[in-house]
Amino acid sequence: MKNIYILGAAGSIGLQTLEVLKENQNTFQLIGISLGNNHQLNFEILNHLSVELVCLRDSSRLKDYESKFPKIMFFSGDSGLIKLAEYPKPGILVNALSGSAGLKPTVAAIKSGKDIALANKETLVMAGDIVNQLVKEYQVKLYPIDSEHSALWQVLNGEELSSVKKIVITASGGALRNLSREELSQVTKKDALMHPNWQMGDKITIDSATMMNKGLEVIEAHHLFGLPYEKIDTILHQESMVHGLIYFIDGTIKASLSVSDMKIPIAYALFYPERRAYERHLELTNLSFKPMDFKRFPLLELAYQVGKKGGLLPTVMNAANEIAVKLFLADQISFLEIENIVIQTVNQFKNIDHPSLDQIIETDDYIQEMIRNTYEKR
Ligand code: MG
Repeated sequence: MKNIYILGAAGSIGLQTLEVLKENQNTFQLIGISLGNNHQLNFEILNHLSVELVCLRDSSRLKDYESKFPKIMFFSGDSGLIKLAEYPKPGILVNALSGSAGLKPTVAAIKSGKDIALANKETLVMAGDIVNQLVKEYQVKLYPIDSEHSALWQVLNGEELSSVKKIVITASGGALRNLSREELSQVTKKDALMHPNWQMGDKITIDSATMMNKGLEVIEAHHLFGLPYEKIDTILHQESMVHGLIYFIDGTIKASLSVSDMKIPIAYALFYPERRAYERHLELTNLSFKPMDFKRFPLLELAYQVGKKGGLLPTVMNAANEIAVKLFLADQISFLEIENIVIQTVNQFKNIDHPSLDQIIETDDYIQEMIRNTYEKR
């Protein structure tokens, strides 16, 4: 039996992870989960599974939970996430939190010797160098759950990194891919949340529409696979059937294809190195590929520049984007203002090299606070 922890169990990836566990109850033992503020959903989750520890987003309803589920140990807030991550039972921690909040618990889990199945790409965007160092130091495993990175990991399996000419991450183009830049000024929240291929949380769906998601994924791939940015390409592929391709030096291209179901990369990480049975294969139809359009998606171009410069800039870009997306989802700014805020914030920031974990976390807080104060009051 493998012990499993899930941070963000009530989110999209978290719920699909619970489904994978439910279908494989003889393989996995759920130890701890963290939940958000949707109490109805939380109760439903807790009524249907057995778990030792639960961390709630905040402590407002802690007493209700404790009286309803007397066998479970409850924590709350950021400190609760750390307690969950540090709990002294070994296992795999699935980090399915959204945003920069995922970084500290990842670090805590690594330091307590847990393997990480990472859906929280912000962890690597903000602190990839530090996290990789810790993974080595504490001799734990880091498995990607992002679909593109899972695909690339599968293709790379058994290959030498020195044989790789380049890796290619595919991008569907998101909900607004058929609109011109002029048309983007009129876009509503509802338009931007209609992703053509994937059912995902709100934040990542907006990030797909701005292509910021692909930018974060390029930086994530750089840290996961140890490849320079010159060897990481992106391509428009609207069917989301091919998730990643690798060009080898001998002229061969290997690709990984599957239906768009996150349970596949989740199960690959949790079962690794085994494969679990899955009922569906892709119906192969016409596949289309187009070169990436960096003029149409300026945030992807920015992510390459930011990734190459490193230091605090990836944190700044990520923080600016995270708060801008929140403001957009709260109807405080327009769709195109997301881009403007991110680009301006990055351009105005005075970068430093080799930041500490504390500097990274402080910068994330500072940038989000600054942008919130500027735009929220209008
Ligand atoms: Mg992805």
